[in-house]
Amino acid sequence: MNLVSGKMLWTDISKIPNKHTYLSEDISCDVLVVGAGITGAICSYFFTKAGVDTVTVDKNIVGYGSTSASTSILQYEIDMDLVGLKGIIGKDKAVECFKLCKEAVYEVEKIVDDLGNKCGFSLRDCFYYADSESDLSLLKKEYKIRKDSGFDVEFIEEGRARDMFSFPIKAGIYSRKSGGEINPYMFTHELISRSQKDGLKVFENTEVTELKNESDGVEITTKNGFKIKAKKVVFATGFLAKELIDNKTAILTRTFTLVTKPVDRFDGWHNRCIIRDTKNPYTYLRTTSDDRIIIGGEDLALGGKNSKMSCLTEGASVAKKKYQILYNRLLTLFPGIKDIEIEYRFNGIFGESSDGLPYIGEYQKYPNSYFCLGYGSNGILYGVIGAKLIRDIYFGKSSKLLELFKVNR
Ligand SMILES: Cc1cc2nc3c(=O)[nH]c(=O)nc-3n(C[C@H](O)[C@H](O)[C@H](O)COP(=O)(O)OP(=O)(O)OC[C@H]3O[C@@H](n4cnc5c(N)ncnc54)[C@H](O)[C@@H]3O)c2cc1C
Repeated sequence: MNLVSGKMLWTDISKIPNKHTYLSEDISCDVLVVGAGITGAICSYFFTKAGVDTVTVDKNIVGYGSTSASTSILQYEIDMDLVGLKGIIGKDKAVECFKLCKEAVYEVEKIVDDLGNKCGFSLRDCFYYADSESDLSLLKKEYKIRKDSGFDVEFIEEGRARDMFSFPIKAGIYSRKSGGEINPYMFTHELISRSQKDGLKVFENTEVTELKNESDGVEITTKNGFKIKAKKVVFATGFLAKELIDNKTAILTRTFTLVTKPVDRFDGWHNRCIIRDTKNPYTYLRTTSDDRIIIGGEDLALGGKNSKMSCLTEGASVAKKKYQILYNRLLTLFPGIKDIEIEYRFNGIFGESSDGLPYIGEYQKYPNSYFCLGYGSNGILYGVIGAKLIRDIYFGKSSKLLELFKVNR
């Protein structure tokens, strides 16, 4: 499968000093993190910070998986509306999940402060809107439950929206300081660098091909035939881990992204907030710390492992069509921004769970292992939530949240 394709923004604009060697001997550690994307980097950070002897390996190089294509919108809102999630897991738990995501946004802010590098992070407001009458009653219900649950939200009517945005809006929910944006590739590298200072060992081009359970932990074998003995293994292998987990409810799609050159002004875009519409699939927009616009969406179902969509290559005609649709949409949304010029076009595989929640925790099929899989558009925040939960399980502290996030739910 072709995880990402096209000309990627983050790897192009971020200067990364560190390269890592591959594993060339047998070693042992307390915790082995498999995967050095943003999730593996966050797990490595929390484990090394807690003083755990940790090793991280990646079959490729740090941050070059889904992380390199991520739009990196950090939102308290989950793919599934609060009304919908309430229908599946009950109101209290649904509200708890939204609150957890909001806390995770602020946790990211704390982490970048600790790293001493903002990694393009900014706190942002979020705007969730409908442009058709048919979604109005849904939006009103969603607003009410969020307001009643204590979120700082405002219902924006059509007239008011005209003063805030340059595109037609029937109504929207405006949430204050409930989201953020970041450069995921830089963040991943900064986390790994910090963790190395705290004792982390990192090996790139080191693929885990076999895993054997032993009485006191796990022995894994790499493609080059070296062994790593670990008390526990964390699988932070991203969307491709779907093959490991026998989960029929997780689905994979491909999502498409455009990034502009830096623009002069954001006319018609209130507070440069994060924007998402109520359509399915939805369109999402954010800005960057160097004043670019990112627009994404137009998701397509992936089909089987060898389907055209799974193996989509740069320049494929379906991708060109999707980029053209997104470009036209951007021009329609922001006629006041006169200097829109596209610099990057890329797409990536995206995993979703049917309830919009991640897969985190132990899984009986793999003893002595933890999974940290941030399926859904909150993948990065789920990485933060998952890393902390898994660190806590390692230290013998359980959480009732693990029931909600379990791999085989
Ligand atoms: C286009 C796009 C837009 C997105 N937008 C958002 C967004 O706005 N907000 C958000 O929160 N999330 C978003 N996501 C999702 C988010 O990017 C992902 O949740 C996140 O990047 C996943 O990170 P990861 O580290 O789990 O996976 P990856 O970055 O894929 O890293 C997994 C790593 O595991 C390694 N690996 C796999 N198997 C092995 C093995 N056997 N041995 C060793 N290494 C192995 C891979 O090489 C890879 O580097 C988006 C994703 C895409 C593709």
